[in-house]
Amino acid sequence: MTHSLEDINAKVKAIAARNPVYTEISQWVGDLLSTTVEASKNFGPSDLKLDVDPLPEAWYQGKSLLNPEELSLDWEKISALYERLVELVKKREDGHRQAEGLLKAIEEKRNGAPVVMKAVLTSNFEAIEASAKALNVDSPVLALLLRLSLRPSLLIIAQAVLKHLDLSRWHHGHCPVCGSAPGLSDLSGEGGKRRLHCSLCETVWSYPRLRCPFCENDNREELSYLRAKNEEYLRVDLCGRCNNHLKTLDLREISGPIILPLDDVATWHLDIIAGQNLEDKGNALS
Ligand SMILES: [Zn+2]
Ligand SMILES: [Zn+2]
Repeated sequence: MTHSLEDINAKVKAIAARNPVYTEISQWVGDLLSTTVEASKNFGPSDLKLDVDPLPEAWYQGKSLLNPEELSLDWEKISALYERLVELVKKREDGHRQAEGLLKAIEEKRNGAPVVMKAVLTSNFEAIEASAKALNVDSPVLALLLRLSLRPSLLIIAQAVLKHLDLSRWHHGHCPVCGSAPGLSDLSGEGGKRRLHCSLCETVWSYPRLRCPFCENDNREELSYLRAKNEEYLRVDLCGRCNNHLKTLDLREISGPIILPLDDVATWHLDIIAGQNLEDKGNALS
């Protein structure tokens, strides 16, 4: 979903008010995000050719409509946006040292596409981490910049595709558009219905609360959740079978919309808590 600069500013302020420890980082991510929103004007409508009438039978069986690895993207524009984002890294402490490595990260190309960008499209986090290590840059910063520079293209494509999909027919834990795993979930409405947000193209779809989207496990005894103190709006769902976790924002407690890159960063403490506790049982899921 695309968001306006006003939405982004409001979210940055709300995060700072709620959790002051994230004031600086959310302001910075907000600046990066605003740059990508402004740049998205240069990306134009998707020229993706879709064969979707009727929708392929495989989609109903759980095969996402697109394979992100096969998308033909405008690598020059994406790389130019990435370079603009690296300029914003220089404003941060230690930024000049990192900037050099970050620019090097996209130099290695295959068929015109930077290899690390392809790694983002295939959710190959190990490759991104290895690249960050080799170039002596922070892995989360590299991953964030790569993802944000791909974001305008991916969001335009997802919007074009979504017009053709009846999401009420999709009951899987991976994204109906691009097949990636969810990056966050939210609860809203009466009874708190759960929606998942794709970590790559940010498509949103409904999914049962009592099922793990990563392994589709719905055995309640293996599902649990944790909360941080004084944060009623936030929890992290844990699966004892596949050991994955997913952060959940309760939109009955705080106002939306979810802006994935910002809400993800502003909840990093939950990732840490989840990592420490996955071995433990957590609370029974409700
Ligand atoms: Zn997706
Ligand atoms: Zn699972």
